[in-house]
Amino acid sequence: MRTLIQSGTLVNEGQTFEGSIVIEDGKISQIIQRNTTPEASYDEVIDASGCFVIPGVIDDHVHFREPGLTEKADMDSESRAAAAGGVTTYFDMPNTIPQTTTLEALEEKFALAAKKSHVNYSFFFGATNDNTGLFPQLDVHRIPGIKLFMGSSTGNMLVDRREALEKIFSSSPLPLMTHCEDTDIINRNMAEAKEKYGEDPKVTHHPEIRSEEACYESTKLAVELATKHHARLHVAHLTTAKELGLLGKEKNITAEATVSHLYFCDRDYAALGTRIKCNPAIKTECDREMLREALNDGRITVIGTDHAPHLLTQKEGGCAKAASGMPMIQFSLVTMLELVDQGVLSLERLVELMCHNPARLFDVRQRGFLREGYQADIVLVRPNTGWTVTKDIILSKCGWSPMEGHMFLWRVERTLCNGHTVYGQGKVDTNYIGQSVEFR
Ligand SMILES: [Zn+2]
Repeated sequence: MRTLIQSGTLVNEGQTFEGSIVIEDGKISQIIQRNTTPEASYDEVIDASGCFVIPGVIDDHVHFREPGLTEKADMDSESRAAAAGGVTTYFDMPNTIPQTTTLEALEEKFALAAKKSHVNYSFFFGATNDNTGLFPQLDVHRIPGIKLFMGSSTGNMLVDRREALEKIFSSSPLPLMTHCEDTDIINRNMAEAKEKYGEDPKVTHHPEIRSEEACYESTKLAVELATKHHARLHVAHLTTAKELGLLGKEKNITAEATVSHLYFCDRDYAALGTRIKCNPAIKTECDREMLREALNDGRITVIGTDHAPHLLTQKEGGCAKAASGMPMIQFSLVTMLELVDQGVLSLERLVELMCHNPARLFDVRQRGFLREGYQADIVLVRPNTGWTVTKDIILSKCGWSPMEGHMFLWRVERTLCNGHTVYGQGKVDTNYIGQSVEFR
C-alpha cells in the first residue's frame, strides 16, 4: 500500500515548507521538498493543497473513563473524538474503576484498547501509598510514566504520606507525572467558603477554594522531592504564574499546560459556569497570560488536554456538588490554532508543544515527527474556513462541549493514523484500531 500526500505545506521541527509525503506500509518512506511528484504509482493520492500538514498530536493527559465510568465516556467514543480532533496518540490516566494501580488492571486496559481504540494509545500506571513494590515489574517500553496524585481528591488515589512520596520519587523507573494541589489547604478553603456562602458555593469561588496557594505548595514539594532524588518529574496542568517561578531551573523537571487553562480564565465562569469547572481551577486572566508566555520561553514543555468528560447532569450545582473536568480532545488542536492566529504562539511552536515534545519527553518510538522511517501519524489542517461547534458534531459520549456555539477558523481536514485515514470528510473510520505505543 503506497500513499502520496501531495502539495501541502509541511510544518516540522521548526521548518515550514511546500512538500509531499510518501507513505508505505504505514510508515513515512519519503519526504519530498517542493511540489515534485516522485515517479511511481500510488494506491492513494491525497491532495493537501491549501492545508498545513503536521505530525499527529500526542495528548499526554486524557481520562477516557474506561473501565468503570463508562456512563461518562469510553475508549471507543473518546478515541473517535481524538481522531476527529487530529490527535493520533493519547496517554490515559489511572483514575478509572478499578484504578490502574495493579499490573492486572493495566493489562485489562491494554486489552480493551486493542479492541476499541481508533487511534494509538498507552496508559499511565498509578502510584499509591503502598504499590512501589510493583515498579520494577512495569514494562518501561510499553507505558509512558507513573501518575501521582499529590493531594487531589479525584478518584481516591491520593498519596499523602511523606515516606510514600519519598519512596515513589526515589524508586520510579519512569517519568513521574504529578497532579499538584494541597488537600489540607483546599479543605480549609472549602470550610471557610461554606461558612460564608452556604453548603454549595457558586462556581465563581472555585479558584478561591482550589487556590494558587494550594497549587504552589504542592508543586513546590514535588520540585523539592524530584531535585532531592534526581527523579524525572513532569508537573501536569500548571495553572498559576507563581508556580512558573519553580520551573526552568532543573533539566529533569518539566511541565504541562492544558488547552483549557490556556484558553479560558476566571471571567469565563460567568458565561460557562460549571462547564469549565476543573481541577486545578481555571485561574485569573493574569495567570493565563503568564502561562501563554511560558509556552514560548520553554517553561511549559507540553500542551495536553486533561480531557475529562462528565455528564451534564453531573455538572449541576456549585463548588461542592458539580463534578470537575470537561471534554476537550476533539477541539484541542483547532483551539490552539486559534491562539496561533491571535499571535500567542507560532504554528511551528504549536507543533513543538503538541507533537514533538510529548514524543521527546516520554521517549516515544518513531512518532511525533514527520521523519522518514517514522509511523505515518499525520494531520491535515485547513485555515480560513469558518465553522461552528454544534451538538450534532460532538463525538464525546457526554454529548456537550465548552466550545459549543464557538466559531473556529481552522478545520481538521484529515487524520492519518499509521498511514490509514482514520478521519476524513467529517467521518471516523470506526473499523480502524490504533496501535499500542512503544517507548524507549
Ligand atoms: Zn487529569
